[in-house]
Amino acid sequence: MRPFEYQRAHDAAGAVAAVAARPGARFLAGGTNLVDHLKLGIAAPDLLVDVSGLPLDTVEELPGGRVRVGAMVRNSDLAAHPLIRKRYPVLSEALLAGASGQLRNMATTGGNLLQRTRCLYFQDVTTPCNKREPGSGCSAVEGYTRNHAILGASERCVAVHPSDMAVAMAALDADVVILGAAGARTIPLTALHRLPGDAPDRDTLLEHGELITAVDLPPGTYSRSAYRKVRDRASYAFALVSVAAVVSMDDGGTIGDVRLALGGVAHKPWRAARAEEILRGAQASEDNFRQAAEAELESASALGDNAFKIPMVRNTMVAVLRDLTGRPADV
Ligand SMILES: Cc1cc2nc3c(=O)[nH]c(=O)nc-3n(C[C@H](O)[C@H](O)[C@H](O)COP(=O)(O)OP(=O)(O)OC[C@H]3O[C@@H](n4cnc5c(N)ncnc54)[C@H](O)[C@@H]3O)c2cc1C
Ligand code: SF4
Repeated sequence: MRPFEYQRAHDAAGAVAAVAARPGARFLAGGTNLVDHLKLGIAAPDLLVDVSGLPLDTVEELPGGRVRVGAMVRNSDLAAHPLIRKRYPVLSEALLAGASGQLRNMATTGGNLLQRTRCLYFQDVTTPCNKREPGSGCSAVEGYTRNHAILGASERCVAVHPSDMAVAMAALDADVVILGAAGARTIPLTALHRLPGDAPDRDTLLEHGELITAVDLPPGTYSRSAYRKVRDRASYAFALVSVAAVVSMDDGGTIGDVRLALGGVAHKPWRAARAEEILRGAQASEDNFRQAAEAELESASALGDNAFKIPMVRNTMVAVLRDLTGRPADV
């Protein structure tokens, strides 16, 4: 590990100014991802600005029914918060499907969104990786790809984004509140993460020195929601595939609002917009669920080891929609 300076931030603006002023500076929140990267040699900052003690650790209701989640709210606290459990149960489910109790006690909302890929080659500094070292090549495209992307990948990078929480937030149409040296801005969560294209080293649209200060959740317009994660072990494993779904349905079984997001399949939480389009206004039926899933997967392409993900996504989407529309409303 390379030596670095450490500063504890006392306010958000000061933290932003400290990081923005030094290209080698980084924010440190719970440290559950970044500290591993320091040890593995993936990251070598010369200054760590510790934002974990900033007063951005509350969940509060905003006028108009929105709920603001501070960027320093720990994953365990967010999952257990009464407002989240009541209004956004899909978010609690996704959080509890991630990592372990100990990790969730440390991990923050902002850090979870910005955790980096678990691609084995990205984590092994002896192998070429365009994300870690732009222009060096992608070891995965000719290598072991069981965990890699089936949607939106490029020839430069086929990695997937690992966060469960982000997938639920994508389905909830959350917004991300960002503070930078030039001021504050808010962007849809679905616009935060990038597809790899020819610059896979850039995971998100954030500029150096920009701090996530909060995530805003809009009022729910749905009556049923679920997060389902398919993984190798029942706990402590990243998603092979996951589906977050929020749905409203009338008494006659016609689907109204429907929002679906997929995890484990792309460089970002994948909003299944084509499937949503087919389902909106359609009857809740097995045929329609399958047609929607297949339309979403038309552009999917497998690399070899990950071919199983295509039928797995289709079957998981259909199963989640069947279960959700076949049970009483829960929100
Ligand atoms: C063994 C293990 C298993 C795991 N399993 C899962 C899983 O199944 N599902 C899952 O979703 N996650 C899983 N995780 C990941 C875990 O959830 C993340 O490590 C954690 O959420 C990161 O949050 P943090 O606060 O510790 O971030 P940090 O490690 O402190 O920071 C991560 C990155 O975000 C930046 N950053 C942090 N906060 C901000 C901010 N507010 N604004 C701007 N930049 C910021 C940091 O500079 C750094 O680059 C696992 C982790 C481990 C170690
Ligand atoms: S898939 Fe992306 S992260 Fe993995 S080796 Fe290739 S460039 Fe690196």
